[in-house]
Amino acid sequence: MDKLHLDAALTPEGWRTDLTLTVDAPGLIAAIDAGPAPAGAARLRGAVLPGLPNLHSHAFQRGMAGLTEVAGRSDDSFWTWRDWMYRFALALEPEDVEALAALAYVEMLEAGFTSVGEFHYLHHDRDGRPYADPAELARRCIAAAGDTGLGITILPVFYAHAGFGGLPPGEGQRRFICDLDLFGRIAEGAQAAAAASPRAGFGIAPHSLRAVTVDQLQALTASYPQGPVHIHVAEQVREVEDCLAAHGRRPVAFLADTVALDPRWCLIHATHADEGERAAMVSAGVVAGLCPVTEANLGDGLFAGVDFRRSGGRFGVGTDSNVAISATGELAMLEYSQRLATRHRTALADRGGSTGRALLETSLAGGAQALGLGPAGIRVGAPADLVVLDTDHIAFAGRKGDALVDSWIFGPSTGAIREVHVSGRRVVDGGRHIGRSSIEARARKVLQRILAS
Ligand code: ZN
Repeated sequence: MDKLHLDAALTPEGWRTDLTLTVDAPGLIAAIDAGPAPAGAARLRGAVLPGLPNLHSHAFQRGMAGLTEVAGRSDDSFWTWRDWMYRFALALEPEDVEALAALAYVEMLEAGFTSVGEFHYLHHDRDGRPYADPAELARRCIAAAGDTGLGITILPVFYAHAGFGGLPPGEGQRRFICDLDLFGRIAEGAQAAAAASPRAGFGIAPHSLRAVTVDQLQALTASYPQGPVHIHVAEQVREVEDCLAAHGRRPVAFLADTVALDPRWCLIHATHADEGERAAMVSAGVVAGLCPVTEANLGDGLFAGVDFRRSGGRFGVGTDSNVAISATGELAMLEYSQRLATRHRTALADRGGSTGRALLETSLAGGAQALGLGPAGIRVGAPADLVVLDTDHIAFAGRKGDALVDSWIFGPSTGAIREVHVSGRRVVDGGRHIGRSSIEARARKVLQRILAS
């Protein structure tokens, strides 16, 4: 058993000082004791926050960050961005996927995320044929997470069609496409790889209502009755219009009529859910998977987050396209987008409470639920996933308690994370991941090669 002594920590009971965590062999917090550091305990100096789950990532897209910002001849949209993404995806070999995932995961850890939901849809070889091991690329993502120390919930994606009504897939989608049989083999391999890794879990991800028929959706949920289920649901207005045209209902309403929504569901980009759909999400206890930076980058639109939170809705955040990997960036963008929409400040805070703390605690609970992680936070039974803020950083001068969280999220806090621990193991030290140099060098070679061609 390892002992970690924390000067100050945000726990479910609020801020506490002088705590010693006893961490067991799998990395769970076995006991929390108050008082001075016992002999032999490692000291975590600063203010300790729980590590955040990043509930939605497409790791390979990290390699495209900043490359899709040149204006096209026609109106740029999600759909023109997606054409670019397809071309990039078609260039990647398995070792490239692993190298880019490792880079993304290092950056997630340095940003204060300690686990990720990898919404994994790049399955097959460049010509569209399955690899000898159909789960090859899922294993690469799990390996990258294992190398970096990041917890991962691998979510193999079922993707069968190009649009509503079972449209045949396009040539650019050839690396994603499965029938239910092939998906079963990918899922089996991914599940086995996850079971062999100490911080990996498994769930499924029907890609979207565009890409999956009703029959397929029902077959999938029947075949996988446990674990997280994620779906892209209403990111684009066109998607809502197409769903209305095909099924006579909006996407979330249609989904709720098609499958039994329950707390294992995470609806990614419920951006255009209307009031009735949001009420259905709240009563089913699903998590809204919000990806504020990517949704802004893609010009998706705004989720009605204030109404949703006031009515008891659960949400978490994801870095999605990984265009800028930052926990504070996602939380600040989420809050600011709601302020712009409602013309109020402290939009997602509880009355009289800190906005930063509300954002942190809500997305911790929502993210942990969405990734099937069990108890989260600095409490007995949860993994020792810890983010240590450097309270000597100028962003925190004169601050304590919740003001530290607000100053971290909204203030000039670049470089404010001193250490990150996952399952009690330190993976970020002095603000830098312990394996960054070699992981960065490997990713640099991949990007130089791919972008040169
Ligand atoms: Zn996505």
